[in-house]
Amino acid sequence: MKDRSDMKITIGHLYPDLLNLYGDRGNVACMVRRCLWRGIWAETVECGIGEPIDFSRFDIVLLGGGSDREQMIAGRNLKKARQQFCDYIEDHGVVIAVCGGYQLLGKYYQTKAGMIEGLGLLDIYTQQEEGRLIGNIVLDSELSDLPVVGFENHGGRTFLNGCRPFGRVLHGAGNDGRSGYEGVVYKNVIGTYLHGPLLPKNPRICDYLIEKALERKYGPVSLKKLDDRLEMAANEAVCRRFLKSWKSVMAVG
Ligand code: GLN
Repeated sequence: MKDRSDMKITIGHLYPDLLNLYGDRGNVACMVRRCLWRGIWAETVECGIGEPIDFSRFDIVLLGGGSDREQMIAGRNLKKARQQFCDYIEDHGVVIAVCGGYQLLGKYYQTKAGMIEGLGLLDIYTQQEEGRLIGNIVLDSELSDLPVVGFENHGGRTFLNGCRPFGRVLHGAGNDGRSGYEGVVYKNVIGTYLHGPLLPKNPRICDYLIEKALERKYGPVSLKKLDDRLEMAANEAVCRRFLKSWKSVMAVG
């Protein structure tokens, strides 16, 4: 196993000026910090509209949320690098895609104003329905031994076509407000509606992404434990507010 000080990850933040609803940028800061606290070097490369995107440089890719309009612009731009993005995902590249970014990974997002073409990287699709699904959300996810907490705000309802969900909804709406599931997991991709930002309040998910990125690059790793008392308190505050049987969820999880 390599020494930590030799390890380095590069985070590609796609369209940070366009897709940055509800502090998605905080997810990047969280990943960088949790690496640096462990002596793992982490750098961020921001890619704006019109700039070429070189996926071979990246260990983690972040696509944030945006309004329908911003999403359409980002999607059109990203189409040019679609094959590279696809190869990156199939080669177990790590992706965290939030809300508008999550929808863009799918085949399409049908809105009342028209169709927003997706990248078709995952076999999922989204349809706009009456009313927005807005509020705090709590999930039970296989990827975390703590409940995953966040905030959702989306008009689109996402359908998974048999793909694996990110979590089971314990409180909130999730993918479509009916299925009881939220988000998607495919290889090392997580797509989710959870803003907040997601990672500071869900340190296990942040470490999952870092670990997968390091494993892909360097082989098996074991991440040093951090003092997560503040992160756990933030997570717990949401759970206490929205889960009546919070303790029993922890026991099962
Ligand atoms: N525009 C999309 C929707 O409303 C995504 C919104 C978002 O990223 N918050 O469904």
